[in-house]
Amino acid sequence: MVDILIVGAGPAGLSAAVNAITRGKTVRIFNNKENYLSKAERVDNHLGFYNISGKDLMNKFKEHAEAMNIKIEEGKVVNILPMGESFMVNINGEIEEAKKVILAMGISKVKELPGEGKLLGMGVSYCATCDGMLYRNKDAVVWDQSKDALEEANYLSSIGVNVTFVSKNPRSEHLNKSIKYYNGALTKIIGEDVVEAVIAGQEKIASDAVFMLRDAVAPTALIDGLKTEGNFIAVDRNMETNISGVYATGDITGKPLQLSKAVSEGLIAAQHAALQIDKIKEN
Ligand SMILES: Cc1cc2nc3c(=O)[nH]c(=O)nc-3n(C[C@H](O)[C@H](O)[C@H](O)COP(=O)(O)OP(=O)(O)OC[C@H]3O[C@@H](n4cnc5c(N)ncnc54)[C@H](O)[C@@H]3O)c2cc1C
Repeated sequence: MVDILIVGAGPAGLSAAVNAITRGKTVRIFNNKENYLSKAERVDNHLGFYNISGKDLMNKFKEHAEAMNIKIEEGKVVNILPMGESFMVNINGEIEEAKKVILAMGISKVKELPGEGKLLGMGVSYCATCDGMLYRNKDAVVWDQSKDALEEANYLSSIGVNVTFVSKNPRSEHLNKSIKYYNGALTKIIGEDVVEAVIAGQEKIASDAVFMLRDAVAPTALIDGLKTEGNFIAVDRNMETNISGVYATGDITGKPLQLSKAVSEGLIAAQHAALQIDKIKEN
């Protein structure tokens, strides 16, 4: 079991990691793609760094973390399950137990499709390697929203799932021969208690499952019952969410969507989480 598991290695997540290590805690930090700051042409408003590109600044943050033996692991966190005193975190099929979790995923651009939230776990999945086996010899739609979607569709077909790949991009040539291909957008998931079909373009495709292979997961889909305010996660002054032991930091908690705010929130969350862990140890 790890003390603190951090979702996202942008400025907020890395700041949380550095501060958790400073407080003597064990940390695992996961990141699934390049972060926002790397796109900034020039940053002038982070104290101590004037006229620096976002990419160079991000590299400095990473170097700092690495110098403190923090290893940024590649992986998408797809689910967090509260277990009383700890959390079971699913990272693309790998399960890690953590005493505290810090969400630092950046601004959420994920819009759930109609039917998605209701049927999550009832045919809707965010992870082919986690849930693929459940749909062996059954029909599954893969909705292409990330660079890994092709690979995951091929994986599903290799374990015996009858896959239909729905994509807005014409990239069917890289799919296994047995996979059906539909060029268009997925707009709706249909089903009462379990997934029964999807709407893709003008067509209704019968299916037992839908794999929504996006780079990001909506925060509310990551952990059940998480309180939001508009598009952001609601937090208190310690950056703790309504779920005790789960913190949120950085752009994901709201405006201003700025680097220095993200870094400060990472510090606050890590220090509070560390304090709570120490209190439990004392008792
Ligand atoms: C073009 C541009 C210019 C900017 N210029 C400035 C500026 O000059 N000054 C300033 O202060 N701010 C600027 N910003 C804003 C700044 O980049 C953000 O405020 C900051 O990056 C927020 O940090 P964060 O850690 O909250 O999120 P992010 O930097 O977005 O990092 C979140 C990370 O979490 C990862 N992630 C998401 N979901 C998961 C998951 N399920 N599992 C694992 N990892 C996950 C993402 O891949 C990402 O790497 C700029 C932003 C842009 C886009």
